[in-house]
Amino acid sequence: MSKPKIVVLGAGLGGTIAAYEIKAAVGERADVMMVSASDTYSFIPSNPWVAVRWRAPEAIQVFLPPIFAKKQIGFTAAGAKRLHAAEKRLELNDGISVDYDYLVIATGPDLAFDEIEGLGPHAGHTVSICQTAHASAAADAFDRFVENPGPIVVGAVQGASCYGPAYEFAMILDTELRRRKIRDKVPMTFVTAEPYIGHLGLDGVGDTKSLLESELRNRHIKWITNARVTKVEQGMMHVEEIAEGGAVARTHDLPFGYSMMLPAFRGVPAVNNIEGLTNPRGFILVDKHQRNPAFPEIFGLGVCIAIPPTGPTPVPVGVPKTGFMIESMVTAIAANLDAILDGKAPTAEATWNAVCLADFGDGGVAFVAQPQIPPRNVNWSARGKWVHLAKIAFEKYFLRKVRKGGGEPLYERFALHIMGIRKLRT
Ligand code: FAD
Repeated sequence: MSKPKIVVLGAGLGGTIAAYEIKAAVGERADVMMVSASDTYSFIPSNPWVAVRWRAPEAIQVFLPPIFAKKQIGFTAAGAKRLHAAEKRLELNDGISVDYDYLVIATGPDLAFDEIEGLGPHAGHTVSICQTAHASAAADAFDRFVENPGPIVVGAVQGASCYGPAYEFAMILDTELRRRKIRDKVPMTFVTAEPYIGHLGLDGVGDTKSLLESELRNRHIKWITNARVTKVEQGMMHVEEIAEGGAVARTHDLPFGYSMMLPAFRGVPAVNNIEGLTNPRGFILVDKHQRNPAFPEIFGLGVCIAIPPTGPTPVPVGVPKTGFMIESMVTAIAANLDAILDGKAPTAEATWNAVCLADFGDGGVAFVAQPQIPPRNVNWSARGKWVHLAKIAFEKYFLRKVRKGGGEPLYERFALHIMGIRKLRT
């Protein structure tokens, strides 16, 4: 009898580790295969460093095929064109179809730059750090900018669900400009859909409001909250500031010589618009076991899953899915597939704890939110130089894990245990 086949779709932060953890959990009881869009893994959290050349792109990338071969996990870099969920089949871009018994969707975000005229690196006027190739192009644009400095606008647009990297990048640019001794020539504005600085899509964590306001003030970065970007032109961003109730309180025309705005996210085309599988934005619907209710053989993890916002805000603000939260989803799915293959019901639930390190180059802000939505059992934030060092350690540890083919090293388990951070609900 042939073995059940588990396919993981998307070799990003969540999917790569998921393939390793699932293979380790199911062993010889199932075949595991990765359907990736590329043969290279990129560590997205280091993209802000790539954009100011603190990292070379190659330093944060890992060539995956030999590692997957060693782990006896099937691998293709053809990418999925379309999921045919009713047929349990993935149609790939090279014309081949892959059947599965279980599918784990980890496709990350589709970047919705097209929702705002003039936004983004392709047809627009702002740079991006969402992909490593974008961050490389942003570094080229920054090289040109420093030859002829002017105003900078950084932030996250309406509907964005990722705010930490916007703060990180604003502070990193400030640090780099001070190192180059041209900060005095660069007025900076932080533009965000959040209702207040430090909301982060989580209604704040610990004292992130005061911490991040004070960082922005100390660095002479002005801010606009409740911001809706209406249009971007070459060198000019048009922004509406929205009051409680939805009326336009003020409008701003912000000139810029360099701008990075995080876009809203939505589900990728290969899996969107499937009745019962996705919500209207194309995010995968999952239950507390990371399983889709309409297609129970499909699991979802990472940025591609649907999580409702923390509450109403004047401008739409999404909930972030941070690295550790994603790792907790991975661990739950591996445990649930293990149980299912043994004929048992899945019981593992991820904690979805938000742990984040936002590096500013010369310091940073860290936070832990357990659970994600307030009121919380753990609601902690702090700042200091140690955060910069911790972020470097996170990068090294994660890339090592991808290169080694997974496994939660003893020191990781020990460190998380000491901090009282768990991946699964007990
Ligand atoms: P991704 O890592 O984006 O992976 C998705 C993968 O799916 C990609 O490789 C993509 O190519 C692939 N894919 C998509 N469509 C297909 C298809 N049709 N077929 C095959 N493959 C496909 N979190 C933190 O905790 N700490 C941080 O410091 C941090 N920094 C961040 C910085 C930035 C700039 C961004 C954007 C996010 C950051 N995050 C951070 C949030 C989050 O941890 C990352 O976005 C993380 O990469 C998300 O993991 P993921 O697996 O869900 O998606």
